[in-house]
Amino acid sequence: MHSRQPPTRTGTLSRFQRRIRDMRRVKGARHVTQLVVGGIIVVAAVRHQLEQATGAASVDALCPFGALETLLTWATTGNFVTKIHPSNLVLGIGLLVGTLLVGNAFCGWICPFGAVQDALSWVRRKLHLPTVVVPRRLDAALRWGRFGVLALVIFMSYTTAKLWFAGYDPYVTLFGLHWLFGAESGDYWIALLILGLVAAASLVIDRFWCRYLCPLGAALSVVGRFSLLRIRRAPSACTDCTLCDRPCPVGIEPSKARPFVSADCIGCMDCVATCPVRGALTVGVRVPLGLPDRAGQGDPTGTGRREPARSGREK
Ligand code: SF4
Ligand code: SF4
Repeated sequence: MHSRQPPTRTGTLSRFQRRIRDMRRVKGARHVTQLVVGGIIVVAAVRHQLEQATGAASVDALCPFGALETLLTWATTGNFVTKIHPSNLVLGIGLLVGTLLVGNAFCGWICPFGAVQDALSWVRRKLHLPTVVVPRRLDAALRWGRFGVLALVIFMSYTTAKLWFAGYDPYVTLFGLHWLFGAESGDYWIALLILGLVAAASLVIDRFWCRYLCPLGAALSVVGRFSLLRIRRAPSACTDCTLCDRPCPVGIEPSKARPFVSADCIGCMDCVATCPVRGALTVGVRVPLGLPDRAGQGDPTGTGRREPARSGREK
């Protein structure tokens, strides 16, 4: 005699409930990762402040951007700019390889300053503060600001042979903890002012620093264009409901991806978890490698247009 099996927990969930559960899981995993990395950075910063005589690593040494800041100086003189540590190079190369493989997940999952901006967005939602929506054209223009900052940082690092940006970088200002343990120099107020302005802007605009000013984000958005994996939309499955656009923290519209989302994507996966249509948004291998293009079935041209229905007589 067969005993009747109780329905599985998953089986009792509606499609909507499963989608909410998936969204929470993805967000939870990302926030745990961000918290762990942020904790490591804070512990390193405190150690550096308390044990400077022992040479404990600073937050500068734990930033992969240092590899880029010293690249031009190293290529032309064979030397590094001051304060650059071998760890910068190791992290920089690791980030380059990681971005080529899986896209720019560093900004969404690892960067502690990205986590701070996510926290500010959370505060805004909890306090019911207004959200500033930047018009599309202005948003597209402002994104070039990252490349302006990147060019300035590389130029100044090269001409001064110093880690010039460390004096203004809001990541270093916040996590360096000089505001807690004592400022280094008289013009530290400039760094605090920049941090305050960026934090205020990030309170009303999701990921303001990442979208418009971060020089590392600029470099990663270029490298990300060549990434092996990227989120892609299958136009044959997509219903154009635009639900996936709402959670995107960097203002990308995955519903308009043709077929891959922009290289500005930070890999948070919120859009994939939000999409109610199975197979409409997936993490796909980019076609130029000649590998199977499963997610793009129905979109053989890669233009994002739906493939016209075949008549019954077509073979
Ligand atoms: S496109 Fe999707 S994965 Fe990329 S940042 Fe936006 S919501 Fe996150
Ligand atoms: S990808 Fe999914 S959520 Fe986005 S528009 Fe298409 S069906 Fe809607």
